[in-house]
Amino acid sequence: MSDDLLRQYLSFYRDLGVKTVNRREVPEAPSVEPAVQPGVFSPPEPVLSPLPGLHPADDTLARIREDIGDCKRCRLGDGRKKIVFGSGNEQARLVFVGEGPGADEDEQGLPFVGRAGQLLTQMIEGTARKEGIPLSRPDVYICNVVKCRPPENRTPLPDEMETCGQFLYRQLMTIRPKAICALGSTAIKALLGTKEGVTRLRGNWQKWRDIPVMVTYHPSYLLRPYNQNAKKEAWEDLKKVLHYVYD
Ligand code: URA
Repeated sequence: MSDDLLRQYLSFYRDLGVKTVNRREVPEAPSVEPAVQPGVFSPPEPVLSPLPGLHPADDTLARIREDIGDCKRCRLGDGRKKIVFGSGNEQARLVFVGEGPGADEDEQGLPFVGRAGQLLTQMIEGTARKEGIPLSRPDVYICNVVKCRPPENRTPLPDEMETCGQFLYRQLMTIRPKAICALGSTAIKALLGTKEGVTRLRGNWQKWRDIPVMVTYHPSYLLRPYNQNAKKEAWEDLKKVLHYVYD
């Protein structure tokens, strides 16, 4: 780990002034409120709604990966090195959804392994530890809206999200987690079908189909030095979701 990254890690909690929290001080898991708009995958929303028969009853992550194959369904297939399918526990009770692979993920074929990914790991494990929840990164599942790196790390285009959305849909339907954590605006768009930003949606429960969704900031955003207040908010969001899922 670079010194720079280590400093980011250490500063994450230092900036928050975080102490160990008495679990009794943590509010009850909130009831799930309806999504701001129908989810992208919820009929009748047409954009990324599932194709009939898309999700076989006996679907597995291995089968979904097999169906993706050496995908060239959209232009992202031309520039990628490796498909980044997802990683973690197939029976995870919590799934994190990011935007799409960056350069490190494209090299390794694994999600969130670069700087943002290391911050995400630290956020998950650090928050769990401080809240007394025995949880490490391999216990959750982590994936992205698109499975191939967009050129120059640009935001995935709507047709790319739509093409790849069928696989995210199947992943989520197969895992059926107790909650989903949407990281940043692309995940929000894909899961909730809304252009509302993180700032408006974070901290409150939304819904993808019947699964509660907590929106929070993308870790890349939190790596920027001028977004210190967002770190505090991200920590609150994570605390909420971890207690809801694991208490
Ligand atoms: N950013 C993402 O959204 N996903 C990754 O896997 C890495 C960085």
